[in-house]
Amino acid sequence: MTGFGLDHLPYGVFSVSGGPRRVGVRYEDEAGDWVLDLFAATGRPEFDTPSLNAFLALGAEVWRQTRDEVRALAEDGGHTVPLDDVTLHLPVEVADYVDFYASLDHATNVGRMFRPDGDALTPNWRHLPIGYHGRAGTVVVSGTPVTRPSGQRKAPDDPAPTFGPSQRLDIEAELGFVVGTPSPPGVPVPVTGLADHVFGVTGLNDWSARDIQAWEYVPLGPFLGKSFATSISPWVTPLAALDAAWVDLPAQDPEPLPYLGPGATKGLDIDVEIELNGEVVSRPPYRTMYWSPAQMLAHLTVNGASLRTGDLFASGTISGPEPGQRGSFLELSWGGAEPFGADGHTFLRDGDVVVLRYSAPSVASGRLTLGEVAGRVEPARS
Ligand code: MN
Repeated sequence: MTGFGLDHLPYGVFSVSGGPRRVGVRYEDEAGDWVLDLFAATGRPEFDTPSLNAFLALGAEVWRQTRDEVRALAEDGGHTVPLDDVTLHLPVEVADYVDFYASLDHATNVGRMFRPDGDALTPNWRHLPIGYHGRAGTVVVSGTPVTRPSGQRKAPDDPAPTFGPSQRLDIEAELGFVVGTPSPPGVPVPVTGLADHVFGVTGLNDWSARDIQAWEYVPLGPFLGKSFATSISPWVTPLAALDAAWVDLPAQDPEPLPYLGPGATKGLDIDVEIELNGEVVSRPPYRTMYWSPAQMLAHLTVNGASLRTGDLFASGTISGPEPGQRGSFLELSWGGAEPFGADGHTFLRDGDVVVLRYSAPSVASGRLTLGEVAGRVEPARS
């Protein structure tokens, strides 16, 4: 079994032989690995569309009822297509995309590298989940090739910037949260509102050009160093499948402000695996994150910014305290100074294939496998 049993039932968008894109649910049984064609099985119009958005907009009560219905349909068989016969597509029409910076170990590692003589953490880091608005239109589905970006780079000792292909192309292993239920302008989502608004989670690779990023990010934050591509898995795992995965994250010090719900620090016990050209090079643990998903959502809306169906917010690089748990090549190679892996990698080379894998405890026995996130680096366009 591969972690896609009836305890999981993730949603995606598929097509067969160039036919229309529709919503499906993946499941496996003794006979094989399947996609259940939800429009064929139910006739519901929200499944006869090329994204999950229409279904996500129906809200948490419909998600719950549909999950029960889907489980029964899968048990009965019928309206299924072999997984090998389908093409998978971007599951969500991404509305707005926000990326956070919620790992204490990642932020500390990056701070130590970039500010060796100062405090590793900026003064705000322990008071709010730092984030930035990314580019929704360049979120792509797993398997989409990623072209090496070009841009301005300037190392600290260089007299002037130069233009060319990024020489420090990197990954960030993250978890993405998919919003279903919108919220009205002016009304913050409380720290208790995660399950009312967030439908599920997806694996996410925030491809990052460190040299472009380092030169451009002051004072307004990441821009072209990250906006060229963000990969997500083709399957969105409902929060309902992760009931057994919630754990207490590490203690927060100082206690956050009341709107961030001191004590609202449940995270997910999701193990991540970073595979580079077939070799596992790191195993970041999501359970070591500092800011929780509920706190990120509360912070994202505390100024009255509204949510839209299809919004995606990501955790930030997941890094644990051990060297073998770092979620980016920047950290794994310590800024390029310490090559890692079987062939001495620092940053990404053309032709490299990165696969992110995720697993979590199931409400049944065993573990769920979230959809993987794969991508191959293509040479820069000249
Ligand atoms: Mn990121």
